[in-house]
Formats: sequence, structure tokens, C-alpha cells
Amino acid sequence: MSTLPAQRRPAEAAPAPELVACAVCGLEGSPKEMADCAECGAVFHIDLSQQALGRSCGAATFGQACGFSFSCDPCIERYEESAASGGPWRSAVR
Ligand SMILES: [Zn+2]
Ligand SMILES: [Zn+2]
Repeated sequence: MSTLPAQRRPAEAAPAPELVACAVCGLEGSPKEMADCAECGAVFHIDLSQQALGRSCGAATFGQACGFSFSCDPCIERYEESAASGGPWRSAVR
């Protein structure tokens, strides 16, 4: 008597990749396509190779205070405005 539950399928237990909504454009993406902004904490698309997604909603940035980090597009715009008025700056590495 071997009645193994061989035909059981993981119908609901299948691990679906969790998608994360981008705070900048609103589209969802897989977590490995996303980064979080060091400034505001928003999760956004980043495509460092500029190949897989064909777009980024932020960039790696380099600043005077803490070196490299990621910043979303809205924060990069704020940095540029801040720099124009003599404030702290970060520049996008594109
Ligand atoms: Zn996006
Ligand atoms: Zn941000």
C-alpha cells in the first residue's frame, strides 16, 4: 500500500515573484530591477546596464558628503536645484 501524494500540485504554494511598485513612474517591476533612494526612501526602477529595462527612474549618484548611493529622479532634480542655489549637491552618474 503505497499511496504517495505524488499528484499534488503546488497550486497556491508556488512562490510568485513579488512585484514592487515604482514610486516614480508607478509601474511594477521585480525587486532586482529596483533600488531605494538614499534621500527619500522611495523604491524606483534602476537599470545600471541600461539594457534590460531601457529606462531608469533614478540613477546612481555621487555627492560630496557620502559618496555613491542611489537617488530617484525627483530627488536628483532637487539636488540640481539645490546645487544652483549653493546648497548640498549630488550628481547623477549616467
Ligand atoms: Zn519607474
Ligand atoms: Zn528620492
